[in-house]
Amino acid sequence: MFGQTLYFCRMITQRQIFFENLAQTSDLPMALEIVKANGVYLYDASGRIYFDLISGISVSNIGHRHPKVIEAVKKQLDDYMHLMVYGEYIQSPQVNFARLLTEHLPAKLSNVYFVNSGSEAVEGALKLAKRFTGKTEIIGFKNAYHGSTHGALSVGGNEELKNSFRPLLPGIKILEYNSSELSQITGHTACVIVEPIQGEAGIILPEKNFLRELRKRCDETGTLLIFDEIQTAFGRTGKLFAFEHDGVIPDILLLGKALGGGMPLGAFISSKELMQTLTEKPVLGHITTFGGHPVCCTSGLASLQVLLDENLVEQVERKEELFRKNLQHPFIKNIRGKGLFLALEFESEELNRKIVSTCIEKGVVVDWFLFAPNCMRIAPPLTITETQVETACKLILKSINQLT
Ligand code: PMP
Repeated sequence: MFGQTLYFCRMITQRQIFFENLAQTSDLPMALEIVKANGVYLYDASGRIYFDLISGISVSNIGHRHPKVIEAVKKQLDDYMHLMVYGEYIQSPQVNFARLLTEHLPAKLSNVYFVNSGSEAVEGALKLAKRFTGKTEIIGFKNAYHGSTHGALSVGGNEELKNSFRPLLPGIKILEYNSSELSQITGHTACVIVEPIQGEAGIILPEKNFLRELRKRCDETGTLLIFDEIQTAFGRTGKLFAFEHDGVIPDILLLGKALGGGMPLGAFISSKELMQTLTEKPVLGHITTFGGHPVCCTSGLASLQVLLDENLVEQVERKEELFRKNLQHPFIKNIRGKGLFLALEFESEELNRKIVSTCIEKGVVVDWFLFAPNCMRIAPPLTITETQVETACKLILKSINQLT
């Protein structure tokens, strides 16, 4: 029976198995069958080449399979893979990565807790805030996306996404992003969780002083400020971390996506004083088996080193300008965003969907945003060259023109 199944498997295509045996997240997956990736390029099973203009959703910031990352990962595989649950053994990939990360962060963000994903970093941070402050109220923002687990979903800002899964965490208040109603943050608030630049509503920048005011109000009320930089960190917006644009420092910083250099990794980072509270009452207040996996930390460390050595962050602004200059068309109503984190706004969801599909047919992988289906996502690897930016833009304009 088993053998028969295997035999049958050989007769059906990967595409058929994908739709039959893998859980789907929507009716409309991109369903590209990618067999190889290199730099800014993806290669499909039929030999077609694509520009990857979304970086696996802000993951491949230094491109796919950078040789230095591959070399470091191969070496680590020769030494060891999983050894023990997080926090027990001294493992050099974790130690060295925590060291490099904290060297590039403000002094109070000196203590790194490695986890597996962005959502898990959010969960850890919410627990840490409750544990440290002894308070339970949490404030999030409309249109925020922080992940799909129960806690992360609870502090997200899209009611439609949340409604089918209630009851969620109690004590959550959702405010308008860029809101002036910060008096809602009170002595009862454990923490405020916010993206310093909002992603999934089609990239919304903070208004001047919004983050500063938030910091001030949190300080006044003894509330911890959590910045979710899971999508905005590692040069994506033209600074190593997006909080550098406004000079506002959070109490807890959340990282994921590009953190692992193409491997699954998340982190919440805070001060030693705060983090220490997770070790007592109860002991082992947050634990994870695979968090900070040595191969993932090796990949993340090598990737950050490449980002720094190749001065990629400094080149982001120039590449952003090139995208803006080359993407002018009457159908593009607006280009929002910062650095290589851009949203092209179109008249309607329908038009955007058509343009996205045509771009993919022409060899440029773009996408839309969770809460802004009329906006096209452009977030290429930061390693994209200026010539590649120009070629990709020409293909996007060609796709738009084909529909007019
Ligand atoms: N926060 C932000 C800002 C994100 O963009 C995402 C993922 N899109 C997450 C949290 C959740 O990360 P993960 O999918 O790794 O759980």
